[in-house]
Amino acid sequence: MTTKQAYHLWLDKDARYIWHSMKPYNPQATLIAAEAKGCWVTDVAGNQYLDAMAGLWCVNVGYGREELAEAAYEQLKTLAYFPLTQSHRPAIELGEKLNELLGDEYVIFFSNSGSEANETAFKIARQYHQQRGEHHRYKIISRYRAYHGNSMGALSATGQAQRKYKYEPLAPGFIHVPPPDGYRDPDSADDPRQLRAVKAIDDVMTWELSETIAAVIMEPIITGGGVLIPPDGYMKAVKEVCEKHGALLIVDEVICGFGRTGKAFGFLNYGVKPDIITMAKGITSAYLPLAATAVRKEIYEAFKGTEEYDYFRHVNTFGGHPAACAVALKNIEIMKMERLFDRSREAGEWLLDELKTNLADHPYVGDVRGKGLLVGIELVADKATKEPLDVSLVNQVINRCKENGLIIGKNGTTVAGYNNVLTLSPPLCITDDELSFVVRVLTGALAAIK
Ligand code: PMP
Repeated sequence: MTTKQAYHLWLDKDARYIWHSMKPYNPQATLIAAEAKGCWVTDVAGNQYLDAMAGLWCVNVGYGREELAEAAYEQLKTLAYFPLTQSHRPAIELGEKLNELLGDEYVIFFSNSGSEANETAFKIARQYHQQRGEHHRYKIISRYRAYHGNSMGALSATGQAQRKYKYEPLAPGFIHVPPPDGYRDPDSADDPRQLRAVKAIDDVMTWELSETIAAVIMEPIITGGGVLIPPDGYMKAVKEVCEKHGALLIVDEVICGFGRTGKAFGFLNYGVKPDIITMAKGITSAYLPLAATAVRKEIYEAFKGTEEYDYFRHVNTFGGHPAACAVALKNIEIMKMERLFDRSREAGEWLLDELKTNLADHPYVGDVRGKGLLVGIELVADKATKEPLDVSLVNQVINRCKENGLIIGKNGTTVAGYNNVLTLSPPLCITDDELSFVVRVLTGALAAIK
């Protein structure tokens, strides 16, 4: 059998057995991965692609790290599983290590996915207020365009209607506000408290009654919803608004965490101390499923009452699996040894500059923005009106990149007609030559649709 025939056999079987997420099944577009090393993925036909979409699954240290496979193997041999209703060493060590990265005292609740980490955060926020006798604080405020997960609570917090409307009614008590959007809705208020996107949160809390608000959840930078970089003072001003109304600030670091934006966590760019931080994916560089909800010590203390009902009524069988914790510890060690957070910042600056220079005169490139190795390129049909570029042309760019060995992403189904932000988020270990390859292939693909 030729490689091509073998590939088609895999495609046929894939079509028969696998229910793919998101898009209708498209055999021609499916990449069936066989192996990967560094930034490069090889499919079952032997084609190689540089994965500049890896940031969506956060393979931050790159593929094929034997140290991580060995860490899992050693741990599975020593202690394959034990629940965190009791405890084990890898979880304790990881809790300590995460505190170092977070830069403050947090207590960690482990789970397996970003959605679960956010569900956990919502339940903690609600129960925290209950413990303090504030029984009406249940509403969660989040932003339009943000994605927070697929389970009913996390989906309710998600501000992307297309992902939700077929599954309604969703959980009550979730309210959305507009995010800052420096390209489509620039706001140059000198005082960050006067930013429209901050006032929107303040106003909603007032109109809904402060006493009913449990928390705000936000990513430091909206990632999947279009790489929306906030003005510098925005997050800090949101925290102040939360404090004014007695609400908690939950920061979703599921994509921004572990170096994507040039620091260990995205919030560290903005001088804020969140009440709760959720993380997943990058915690193990996606080698094994693991997620965490980090909770400020003072909040945790409120759960230490003497009554049976003071405890957090939440259990997660596989959360904090010993093998996943062992991999996470090794992953963090690699990130530190190879200074990958700094690499993300420096490489990201170079990539952004290069793309801005190369694409400045392109008729469809409305905006190029980013932080660290997270870059968004907003494509428009008309630079004056900012009308989003038709999705068929956006797809042409993505397909042409793939034909030339480069995988890039585009923002999720935010609003029909707004699928127009290309996203680049390669592994943080990307080399200078590989970065040049990304720029070359993408520039060429964009030139072809001029
Ligand atoms: N939050 C954010 C910001 C995400 O991007 C995602 C997943 N893309 C999630 C939460 C949910 O994570 P998971 O798919 O692991 O449930």
